[in-house]
Amino acid sequence: MHFKRVVVTGGAGFIGANFVHYALSAHPDWQIVVLDKLTYAGNLENLEPVMDRIEFIQGDIANPADAHKALRGADAVLNFAAESHVDRSLLDASAFVRTNVEGTLVLLEAARREGVKRFLQVSTDEVYGDLHGSDHHSLETDPFRPRSPYAASKAGAEHLVFAYGFSHGLDVVVTRGSNTYGPYQYPEKIIPLFITNALADQPLPLYGDGSAVRDYMHAYDHAAGIDLVLHQGVSGEAYNLGAREQVSGVQVADAILEILDKPPTLKRFVADRPGHDYRYSVNPARAEALGWTRKYSFLEGLRETVQWYMQNRAWWQRVRAKREHQSLMQTWYEQR
Ligand code: NAD
Repeated sequence: MHFKRVVVTGGAGFIGANFVHYALSAHPDWQIVVLDKLTYAGNLENLEPVMDRIEFIQGDIANPADAHKALRGADAVLNFAAESHVDRSLLDASAFVRTNVEGTLVLLEAARREGVKRFLQVSTDEVYGDLHGSDHHSLETDPFRPRSPYAASKAGAEHLVFAYGFSHGLDVVVTRGSNTYGPYQYPEKIIPLFITNALADQPLPLYGDGSAVRDYMHAYDHAAGIDLVLHQGVSGEAYNLGAREQVSGVQVADAILEILDKPPTLKRFVADRPGHDYRYSVNPARAEALGWTRKYSFLEGLRETVQWYMQNRAWWQRVRAKREHQSLMQTWYEQR
């Protein structure tokens, strides 16, 4: 499939910005339109190096006028825009339903009316729910068992995406990526939180006994997988993307402390996250059959990511100084 004008929603966020950087080098002829509301997680600094090569629209995917403005004349839409932090969804889920569910619906309707060729929904392995106690790796055919309000909102969005494929003949594909890390990640998520806390000699908060396992994938690999599914994915199908890694919270903390030569005493065990999922793991064989493989092992990707945060202190210090970040850290961690 060939695309020229491509809309990236949520392109000022973490994975969206990494995708924009990837796409501009993989497809220099693309005209990229970024539609982003610039919530607390959106940051134009993430796009600063490429701002003269893209069109940026500040707008809300749940607002039909903004969606139509961005999608007019577009060949493809990639929907990264979301409320993405599980802990915030436990404090207040309403923005998650509005953006992740209603926003996806508004975009689907705009895509249908504007005659967009392909709609790619960026989803998550969290729709499968907890795999604790089994050695299963989730398959695309597995049932959804979302357990957090965040995961439920992403599952709801996927149902709408497939419904638009069936009911309206819209060409839709879905990626279900595993936990992602890399440059430009907002420092409320575990890896940038631990890196920036360690750099500031502050404790690294681990939920419960720190044994929850995730399959950490570098943002570059996530972006490359999304690009491949956009071009080669079969219409109406979902594709798991994961690095075939199984890393616990304690292992993440130990690896970061070792890379930065900081003491293990910085690890701090805090009260567990309510309804915490202890294990996610996907089988990415379907995406691998299209020709995708992850480039980064966890340790290689982590070392590069730590370097990035060391070289971009001003970026994360500005984010950490903002009220939205400080109030989450206070309400969420200080009560634990
Ligand atoms: P993020 O929170 O860093 O960025 C989200 C972006 O969406 C921000 O730029 C924000 O301003 C924008 N946004 C939020 N609401 C909007 C709205 N109503 N209209 C327009 N823009 C809006 O998120 P992320 O970690 O980059 O995640 C991107 C996507 O990937 C999400 O859909 C998420 O569910 C999915 N995903 C994330 C991970 C992960 O580990 N971070 C893993 C798998 C899938």
